[in-house]
Amino acid sequence: MGDIEKLQEVPLIIWILLAVVLLIQGSWIFYDASKRGENKWLWGLFGILNTPSNLIVYLIVTRIIFKTKECYKCGKNVKENALYCPYCGNKFEDDDRI
Ligand SMILES: [Zn+2]
Repeated sequence: MGDIEKLQEVPLIIWILLAVVLLIQGSWIFYDASKRGENKWLWGLFGILNTPSNLIVYLIVTRIIFKTKECYKCGKNVKENALYCPYCGNKFEDDDRI
């Protein structure tokens, strides 16, 4: 009994479902990353490799480590600790709301 034989015991529908979940996850991460100005191709590829761990990693990295705020002038997402908006040059004050 090798690992390959065990893999063949898994019904095809499970693999199809897994593929669909990975595609949805990858597309969502791709869309979300492009919206946030992150590397969407890298993150999108990362998102179709594994579920749900890669989604959790993505959420931790983008929501906690690289937290962003919305520029109130142009509406683009910029790094939370940015002093200037890289898109429109707007200067952020210390009391800016996120
Ligand atoms: Zn801006």
